Amino acid sequence: MSIRKGDSVIINTGKDRSKTGIIERVLPKNGTVIVQGLHMFKKHQKPSKNYPHGGIVDISMPIKMSNVSLVCIHCKKATRVTIKLTDSSKQRICKKCGESI
Ligand SMILES: [Zn+2]
Repeated sequence: MSIRKGDSVIINTGKDRSKTGIIERVLPKNGTVIVQGLHMFKKHQKPSKNYPHGGIVDISMPIKMSNVSLVCIHCKKATRVTIKLTDSSKQRICKKCGESI
């Protein structure tokens, strides 16, 4: 998978199935991503600097990369990409419309 921060993805599983969101973080070690505002769970937060009193907060949990699909910014469809090597960089090409993402 070649998903990067800032990509649009659609979630394929769980309660947020078929919702789209933006990648906030990629955690390559775990093969997971965090999608802004999706896959939210309540977390019991211990008191900390940001939450001086602790409590229950909604946070986006990591989701497996295999459970999300990249959404092409050109054709707006969930798609797969092929990697095209150019002289200077790798380009991701949408398999559906052929545009680079
Ligand atoms: Zn496309």
